[in-house]
Amino acid sequence: SRDDGKPWRVLVTGGSGLVGMSLQRVVKEMGGAKEGEQWKFLSSKDANLLNLEDTRKVFEKFQPTHVIHLAAMVGGLFMNMRRNLDFLRNNLTINDNVLLAAHEVGVTKVVSCLSTCIFPHEVTYPIDESKIQLGPPHASNYGYSYAKRMIVVLNQGYYEQYGRRYTAVIPTNVFGPHDNFSLEDGHVLPGLVHKAYLAKRDKTPLEVLGSGTPKRQFIYSVDLARLILWSMRDYEEIDPIILCGDDESEVSIKEAAEAVMKATDYDGEMVFDKSKADGVFKKTASNAKLRKYLPDFKFTPFHQALKETCDWFSANYESSRK
Ligand code: NDP
Repeated sequence: SRDDGKPWRVLVTGGSGLVGMSLQRVVKEMGGAKEGEQWKFLSSKDANLLNLEDTRKVFEKFQPTHVIHLAAMVGGLFMNMRRNLDFLRNNLTINDNVLLAAHEVGVTKVVSCLSTCIFPHEVTYPIDESKIQLGPPHASNYGYSYAKRMIVVLNQGYYEQYGRRYTAVIPTNVFGPHDNFSLEDGHVLPGLVHKAYLAKRDKTPLEVLGSGTPKRQFIYSVDLARLILWSMRDYEEIDPIILCGDDESEVSIKEAAEAVMKATDYDGEMVFDKSKADGVFKKTASNAKLRKYLPDFKFTPFHQALKETCDWFSANYESSRK
């Protein structure tokens, strides 16, 4: 083990993605790093984590003491439905390679990232940390879900067999700057941000898919980054922890769309395409465990976080992922 009191060397996989870019901001601009600490943020250009030898090389070179593992094959509902096998195999491989390489160079702590969408389809709400393996995930994204669930099993194995403190966090839907704002392959909120931008530009109505009534919980990528940093420094359990806001973080798609219109400063019309599927009505997650550890953590108000995201998207429209 390399926990010898020396300054930490933190390796972040997926450092160029939505969550990774916020973590860079929190570490580099918001005082998140401690004196003497070395941070390295990887993208797929530094190492293809699907390849074990590439993965080992980057770990052997940097010699991390701590790892934040964010890299994954990520996509919206429709891409998941088309490519469940790819999501399963690629994510299983990436996760197995990263945890093995971390173990081999003596990394003391790894924080990996799960997602609340991996929970059983048939489950009693609110979901909490004890319910991950209580039944099969929704058929639409079983590949991504089972691969993520295996991180929990791997972490347990590395602890039982080698005493490693490898753990995981479980965020709800994440949004923020540097998201994938694709209208086809992205998540619901960045899709709405993009649509509202176009609606304002072209003076057309904002079209929302479905009835607008389903409810979802969103977490701002900057808040998530601060919480991931906390979990790396202070969360000692091997069992995962759900990271999401309090009850008011759960909003209907209609409320989210209205908030996006407001943040885009567009007072045009909003129409609902009710012929499109709604998905699960709500999938409330409990943040009771998080609140037990951090009763005073302040989440960025939804409207403010959305405003920052919409402003970023419009300032970076040309170069953004979409
Ligand atoms: P992004 O799609 O924004 O970023 C994915 C990151 O993984 C990128 O840095 C990408 O590198 C890297 N990556 C992908 N494949 C490989 C590979 N083969 N080798 C090396 N690096 C690779 O994802 P997010 O930031 O949204 O997600 C981060 C984590 O959070 C993931 O584990 C995801 O499952 C989880 N999560 C995300 C949620 C969300 O709403 N977005 C919700 C809940 C959990 P490159 O930039 O070079 O392509």
